[in-house]
Amino acid sequence: MMRATELAHLLMRRTLKSGDWALDATVGNGHDTVLLAESVGPSGRVFGFDLQATAIAATDKRVEGHSQVTLFQAGHERLSDYLPEDSQLAGIMFNLGYLPGASQEIITSADTTIAALGLALERLKVGGLLTLVLYPGHRGGDIETTAVRAFTKNLGRQFTAAQFMRFNSERPAPELLVIERTRPIFENQP
Ligand code: SAH
Repeated sequence: MMRATELAHLLMRRTLKSGDWALDATVGNGHDTVLLAESVGPSGRVFGFDLQATAIAATDKRVEGHSQVTLFQAGHERLSDYLPEDSQLAGIMFNLGYLPGASQEIITSADTTIAALGLALERLKVGGLLTLVLYPGHRGGDIETTAVRAFTKNLGRQFTAAQFMRFNSERPAPELLVIERTRPIFENQP
């Protein structure tokens, strides 16, 4: 069965075009950042955030040669301080939880994730896609999952949201949420 992270990659590849702008809100080891860089090509731009220096260093190494990538060692909840004001993003990726191979104490948390999600969605252009991988089985992940699901469920009508997760798993399985901006923000009549 396809993993949540694999499906996120497939959907991003299908959505992004050469020259698009994209955001990796949790670069971690940089797998999503590279995918975004390859998808938007050298004429595009990719912004990446992570709190940990080790994650930024690992990602920096992985994206070597992709000069369209800019990395920030900062919390994604502060993305407005770093992104160009008029940035319109065609693709946004969140991969929550902890950095594989590093401390499991440094995890994303409900408050900052939801703040960042709100800010990122403001910059998502019509037809653009946001993917978010949740880990309800990780310690602390259940609280964050519940909060993010509730936030996503209550998004306005300019967005369409879908969920993918393994259905017959005994333990809570990683889950993919996909959010598309389907209408301009001002077009909110029924
Ligand atoms: N995409 C990665 C996995 C991401 S792990 C991969 O390819 O495997 C989640 C990452 O989120 C960790 O590296 C952690 O340091 C980072 N993180 C935690 N809180 C954050 C915050 N507020 N802002 C940005 N990054 C954060």
